[in-house]
Amino acid sequence: MVNTTIKTTKSQEVFAAAQNLMPGGVSSPVRAFKSVGGQPIVFDRVKGAYIWDVDGNQYIDYVGTWGPAICGHAHPEVISALHEALEKGTSFGAPSVLENVLAEMVIAAVPSIEMVRFVNSGTEACMAVLRLMRAFTNREKVIKFEGCYHGHADMFLVKAGSGVATLGLPDSPGVPKSATVSTLTAPYNDLEAVKALFEQNPDQISGVILEPVVGNAGFITPDAGFLEGLRELTHEHGALLVFDEVMTGFRIAYGGAQEKFGITPDLTTMGKVIGGGLPVGAYGGRRDIMSMIAPAGPVYQAGTLSGNPLAMTAGIKTLELLQKPGSYEYLERITKRLADGLLKAAQETGHAVCGGNISAMFGLFFTSGPVHNYEDAKKSDTAKFGRFHRGMLERGVYLAPSQFEAGFTSLAHTEEDIDQTIAIARDVLSNL
Ligand SMILES: *Cc1c(COP(=O)(O)O)cnc(C)c1O
Repeated sequence: MVNTTIKTTKSQEVFAAAQNLMPGGVSSPVRAFKSVGGQPIVFDRVKGAYIWDVDGNQYIDYVGTWGPAICGHAHPEVISALHEALEKGTSFGAPSVLENVLAEMVIAAVPSIEMVRFVNSGTEACMAVLRLMRAFTNREKVIKFEGCYHGHADMFLVKAGSGVATLGLPDSPGVPKSATVSTLTAPYNDLEAVKALFEQNPDQISGVILEPVVGNAGFITPDAGFLEGLRELTHEHGALLVFDEVMTGFRIAYGGAQEKFGITPDLTTMGKVIGGGLPVGAYGGRRDIMSMIAPAGPVYQAGTLSGNPLAMTAGIKTLELLQKPGSYEYLERITKRLADGLLKAAQETGHAVCGGNISAMFGLFFTSGPVHNYEDAKKSDTAKFGRFHRGMLERGVYLAPSQFEAGFTSLAHTEEDIDQTIAIARDVLSNL
């Protein structure tokens, strides 16, 4: 059972000590709860759909370590496969059979992928894919969308300054202008803006990269015709279409957004689920393009721990579990139940909200919407979200600590977990 009041003394102690040891007390910024206020809880262990913190409190988890835990945390089959792999060593730095196995599974699953390269994170995958886009087309510019996240490499840390949509301005100190001048941005779901960028930059744009369903500006779905339009525009201009499926891959369908929407990009990046909770990223696509990667071709990209046996094992086992008949039907059913329940609870308690789900990915904005892009998402009442988040946490539900993150469910979440979450949400919402 979840708690109605929680004591978090130990979490506070550990996090206070962490402040002196690591910038902001964390290894990745959003974990510090800056955008919702209050203190993060410090985890002790995770299992299935649940988290236990260092004070012994239990939570229903809708973050799933930011996506990888789609089969539930610490799934017994993943853990036992890892134990076995561990006995044979943690890293080879040489070819292994496991890489072939996971590569075959990825190629079989993801429509666009004929060859794949494993790396260690989504950031690495996106960084490498951009180099490849540029090398293959012999063009330097790239189009990304406002609010889409492609990891923290220099060239992707760009948000369009208003009125200078064609001029990439760095989002972070330390990113040189020279690294982002080739990054063009457009509002998500705005085909006309993309068309204009192609016309203003003839024969200079290597391609378009996007989250086919956005999860890093909150949960935003592509409008009808948007992905098709991008496919046509990129073809027309000799540019590549790249789906960043680091979040959506193996989550919104086994074959990712490209399977779900029936649009085949030229290249795809993956991460999160594909590593089953260990550090993995991957990129892949058309054989003629991927053959440019070293040592088959001249485009350099390497990694000491890439394709290591533990990460490959966790990925293989996770994909095997997902292949069981009914997995995605179950994920859709419980996640729709959750999204519908949350929307209804919010509406009935007098809050302006919008949101939804696709398979095991969901979102709820505190605005009446509709939300088609990042500008729309920013109309959300983030202060209210902060209070909602805190209320849910105190009642034993762990949501992503930002209005601008998608939520995740897993095969381990039961209908009972969902209904309990909705009941708690109704209670929290009626006291906001
Ligand atoms: C998480 C994420 C990344 C970055 O992956 P890391 O493993 O955190 O480096 C890139 N793109 C998308 C769409 C993501 O969700």
